[in-house]
Amino acid sequence: MGKHSFKFITILIFSLAQLTYAENKLSNKELKNELLGKVDKKSQLLVEVSDSLWEYAEIALLEYKSSKLLMSVLEKEGFDVEREVAGLPTAFVASYGSGKPIIGILAEYDALPGLSQDNTAFKKALIEGGAGHGCGHNLFGAGSLGAALALKEVIEAHKIPGTIKLYGCPAEEDTGGKLYMARDGLFDDLDACIAWHPSYETKVDVRGSQAIDDLEIEFSGKTSHAAFDPWKGASALDAVEMTTFGINLLREHVKPTVRIHYVITQGGKVPNIVPEHAKLWVWARDSTRQGVKDVVKRIEEIVKGAAIATGTSSKINYKGSYHEMLVNLTGSKVMQKNLEMIGPIKYKDEEAAFAKKIQKETDVDQKGIICEIKELEDHTKDPEGGSTDVAEVSWITPTLNLSTTCAPFGIPWHSWAVISSSKHSIGYKGMFLATKAMATTALDLFLDQEILMKMKKEFKDKLKGYTYKSGIPQDKKPPVRVKHNP
Ligand SMILES: [Zn+2]
Repeated sequence: MGKHSFKFITILIFSLAQLTYAENKLSNKELKNELLGKVDKKSQLLVEVSDSLWEYAEIALLEYKSSKLLMSVLEKEGFDVEREVAGLPTAFVASYGSGKPIIGILAEYDALPGLSQDNTAFKKALIEGGAGHGCGHNLFGAGSLGAALALKEVIEAHKIPGTIKLYGCPAEEDTGGKLYMARDGLFDDLDACIAWHPSYETKVDVRGSQAIDDLEIEFSGKTSHAAFDPWKGASALDAVEMTTFGINLLREHVKPTVRIHYVITQGGKVPNIVPEHAKLWVWARDSTRQGVKDVVKRIEEIVKGAAIATGTSSKINYKGSYHEMLVNLTGSKVMQKNLEMIGPIKYKDEEAAFAKKIQKETDVDQKGIICEIKELEDHTKDPEGGSTDVAEVSWITPTLNLSTTCAPFGIPWHSWAVISSSKHSIGYKGMFLATKAMATTALDLFLDQEILMKMKKEFKDKLKGYTYKSGIPQDKKPPVRVKHNP
């Protein structure tokens, strides 16, 4: 065989190999169809996991069984699991794959105290005084798990380079697990992150969330007999009352975006003892961190004034602080496309009837279930009321947020009605939609470097040189909650 013909054959073989590779390589659309099929195959598993989380109904920092279940499924499916991250016994990070890009998916699984409820269309506690998933975090946890599992199978089968990280994030409802996870740098290596939340609407969230400061204000006075020698006493409760009065006057002089709310957690034991100790728990929110800082400064002055006026001393315990959400419009548009490609949920008559019954019981318009996919909202508008620790992640890496319909339209959130819908086909269908939209969006980020680059550019531009700084001190340990036997 001549030299030239050898070269020709070599080129031919190489070209054929390339051709075969190109032929074997599936298009983005084909890969997405395969991914959606994987989610469908996992639907039973996801319902089982969701129902277990619903039944455990573990409140913030006590999500031991819930996190264990999620971790065991992830390990069984080939993920490496790092346990007890950021000093939180119920937090974890599960990873699969290698190299860049690294795409994060957030999972939450904490329940709310005192809301126990069966999955009936009327209010009926399962355990009187028990906890319940009034925010649908059982669906949140299982839905995010599903996205990670389905995605893993596709990137494994097609040798797509990159890493998936599923974050098990405890205590969203109080404490804010992500606050500690963010402070400890757990999100620092991500190229992007994806989260979702159950809702009664379906949309990619571009309105963001409010920044918040969480303060516990404590007054100490002097005890005395409230009738025999009250002049010897200094009432800590008086100081609390003066503070709340001051806060309520302050409301007239803050921007309309501000929200301040409080509860008195300690106010004395009996009326005939002048209260020596009293505590007020305050949350102050606004659409920006700076706005919150301004309000908190005013509250600090009110507290000082109240202490002087009542002859007591004051102490403020700064429990936590969240940023507002940094919205990434570029990535949100990608997610919107995927959501539209998957299409809205279809409901059966009995599901609509169940929804209307819940709406009747909760005194809201009987509009049934609404799952039209909303267009992207005006992202320049101020966020609606509410804060989330997901916002912390959004200042570290471009973060996308999705809401899907998991409950009847307009029902009160953090209520029994959400718990009922979260262990019902209405909730499951919303969860599957979220799983699919998150998984397909993550796949886009794995396959298309250009999207990621554009997302990062927007992120960098919006940071305006700011580097994320956690609102909690570097050495503050996360609180630990110990389960008491009932
Ligand atoms: Zn929630």
